[in-house]
Amino acid sequence: MTKKTETVVIGSGPGGYVAAIRAAQLGQKVTIVEGKHIGGVCLNVGCIPSKALIHAGHTYQESLHASYLGIKNAQTTLDFTATQKWKDETVVRTLTSGIRMLLQKNKVQIVEGRARFTSAKQLAVQTQTGAETIDFQQAIIATGSQPIEIPGFAFGGRVIDSTGGLSLKEVPKKLVIIGGGVIGSELGGAYANLGAEVTILEGSPQLLPTYEKDLVQVVETSFKKKGIQVVTNALAKAAKDDGQQVTVTYAVKGKETQVTADYVMVTVGRKANTTDLGLEKAGISVDPRGLIPVNDQYQTKQKHIYAIGDIVEGPALAHKASYEAKVAAEVISGKNVAKDYRGIPAICFTDPEIASVGQTLAEAKAAGKQAKTATFPLQANGRALSLNATEGFVRLVFEEETELLLGGQIVGIGASDLIAEITLAIESYLTLEDIALTIHGHPTLSETIMDATEIGLGLPIHM
Ligand code: FAD
Repeated sequence: MTKKTETVVIGSGPGGYVAAIRAAQLGQKVTIVEGKHIGGVCLNVGCIPSKALIHAGHTYQESLHASYLGIKNAQTTLDFTATQKWKDETVVRTLTSGIRMLLQKNKVQIVEGRARFTSAKQLAVQTQTGAETIDFQQAIIATGSQPIEIPGFAFGGRVIDSTGGLSLKEVPKKLVIIGGGVIGSELGGAYANLGAEVTILEGSPQLLPTYEKDLVQVVETSFKKKGIQVVTNALAKAAKDDGQQVTVTYAVKGKETQVTADYVMVTVGRKANTTDLGLEKAGISVDPRGLIPVNDQYQTKQKHIYAIGDIVEGPALAHKASYEAKVAAEVISGKNVAKDYRGIPAICFTDPEIASVGQTLAEAKAAGKQAKTATFPLQANGRALSLNATEGFVRLVFEEETELLLGGQIVGIGASDLIAEITLAIESYLTLEDIALTIHGHPTLSETIMDATEIGLGLPIHM
């Protein structure tokens, strides 16, 4: 069977489904092809289910340790089967069925099957019921990424990837995580809160190596309190799975050590899903990392074929994919737009959270700017104190002469939401004074941003 469409989108993650809906809103006849599950990695085995487990861990810990409030709950137990059921059937299913409904409401045709290019104008799709052909005028490739496997740690049995880590049937007594980046640290924190003994082996000298050291130190202190063991400069060498347990061999500065656990979860990064797409038939090549080169409008070498999300340059983040989706859909629909942003927020949902956007002080200086920082500790914020969560700080990076905001970094409770204000301020070219003059509700964590601007202006009230 051959279908004809104006725009075909391959992949229905936060890149693909957003592109399909926006292109349809702008008048395109759109077909979306999804090979696994509607909603992509993000909704099914990424952002959303991980945050559900993180929330379960927090709630469990709060219930166990609420006696400082005079709340005593001797009966707290964890039924992890129920936790997983809530995550899968309430959280993930509600969202993914909602996305399917939104696609249908916007008259996007859904084809479930794996797509491959047969030419620069045609796709072959293998569905459960047979093969289909889709002739298209424009295509958006949004096929996302998958976990990287490392030598000595073939996935299977007790060697799992992040997807396996999200769907464990029981909380492991002991969990080893290889890779202390964002995904490993988030899930390590969640399982520690749920009662597992967690060891994180990180190859570089610092946990969460993409964030500044002083932010990470706050998380490390909290990890220590949870009993998480972090081993840096650790080279993971091999895993031996005896069916009951798995023994991991790793080396630090040449000295080999072994650690035995119920599972070893490998979270060392992700690779782009670009190898099995027939890209050569479409006349598109990939770079050495498997990413598809694109211009500022997300056009590939073939101007009518676009690529967005984890398969193009930049951080592998859901909100980046969705931003790119909207730009590509608008370009396809005849709008003269191109990518234009000053910062992509990066959030790590550890305990406490880290969030950053725009430039760090070092980056601003390296870019030749006379930059300064202003830092406000959560300890001096009434709301943080009333939430019993005073670890951390808000730091603003600004240009000395103009007081223009260049960046911000937060570690502490609510960082994931607070970063939005700093992002908007940077995007809108706001100065410290603009934020200082904005009335912030009280008592809120957002007041820490206003307080940080007042420190930058030399007129702090709360310090
Ligand atoms: P994906 O979401 O990967 O979707 C691609 C889709 O394309 C998939 O459904 C796939 O089945 C489909 N596909 C692939 N090939 C084909 C084909 N040939 N034919 C048809 N369909 C195909 N990001 C954040 O911003 N915040 C977070 O908190 C966060 N947490 C994460 C936690 C975990 C555990 C993981 C693994 C990732 C997390 N991420 C997070 C990253 C985020 O999930 C990705 O950046 C995002 O999903 C990328 O979106 P995408 O649209 O590019 O691709």
